[in-house]
Amino acid sequence: MNAITFRGVGDVRLEEAPDPKVVDAGDVVIRITTSAICGSDLHQYHGRGGGLVEPGAVMGHEFMGVVEEVGAGVREVRAGDRVIVPFSVSCGTCEWCRERLPTQCTTTGRAVFGGRFGHVFPGGQAEYIRVPFADHLCEKVPADMSDEEAIFLGDILSTGYFCAENGGIRPGDSVAVFGAGPVGLLAMQSAQLFGPARLFAVDRVGYRLTRAEECGAEAVHLDRGDPGDQLRALTGGRGPDVVLECVGHETPFAQAIHAVRPGGTVSSVGVYVETSMGFPVREAFFKDLRLHMGICNARNYIKPLMPLVRRGKLTPTLIITHTMPLGEAPWGYAIFDRKQDQAIKVMLKP
Ligand SMILES: [Zn+2]
Ligand SMILES: [Zn+2]
Repeated sequence: MNAITFRGVGDVRLEEAPDPKVVDAGDVVIRITTSAICGSDLHQYHGRGGGLVEPGAVMGHEFMGVVEEVGAGVREVRAGDRVIVPFSVSCGTCEWCRERLPTQCTTTGRAVFGGRFGHVFPGGQAEYIRVPFADHLCEKVPADMSDEEAIFLGDILSTGYFCAENGGIRPGDSVAVFGAGPVGLLAMQSAQLFGPARLFAVDRVGYRLTRAEECGAEAVHLDRGDPGDQLRALTGGRGPDVVLECVGHETPFAQAIHAVRPGGTVSSVGVYVETSMGFPVREAFFKDLRLHMGICNARNYIKPLMPLVRRGKLTPTLIITHTMPLGEAPWGYAIFDRKQDQAIKVMLKP
């Protein structure tokens, strides 16, 4: 089959890769109909952070498709089912999976499709993929939902919602979202469900801020000064009640703490490449703020968020800027990475 493989820093290619097969009785093989490039794929692309794959590994953890082959032990999933699968590979039965923390799965070693955090599972920027623990991981997609409406439930929409939910937004709150990339934009849409009075988007890329305004946010441009000062000026000197950090670097994390009002909440879902970093701990302490950070257990959110998309309460398709054949993924990576051609979300069609 054709797949996008990692060949080195800044080098992904369309190559021939082995056809996935059912290995264990609980596996299925899915014919991928749509996949996408994620911001965390860019960490891989740049060779930074943990979990780097070997040259030749198939990239990608955002994908969906139609089940083609089914292992003998699979009970719930059938050939022909159209399914969405979360980015992290989990067994559904270990201690942490039973605690509803599938990203901490001990059976797979916290594996991610197309990553190398525990056991290695080839990714979804390909024509086919092997999905283990299929009864646990596959969620059927109703026929009235397009691929584009369903695919982000497996990762970035669930992550954006999780970020907003962890912010504990109450009706009338002011909310600032740091980062107007794919996750930030979906965090903005999700935040709106909790009834904030004001929503701000903080970024330095003009076209992304324009998209944020379409999600009902007021733009705060980083080139116009300190974001905390700008946000205080916009909120009568108080600062936002809730800050959602959707970038994953030391600077925006510190800015989020500086910006939030006393007693406010900072919720962070950016994927950090840093293993440790500076932290304005005195300010955080004396501000009495609440801090929540972590990786989203997307498996838990697929089913509850699906009706919100079907009824138009969430419109994840709004972030899509590019749709291209799988073979053009190297260009897709390049424009997404360099924020060229107004790229926000790049979709791939095998
Ligand atoms: Zn992702
Ligand atoms: Zn598990």
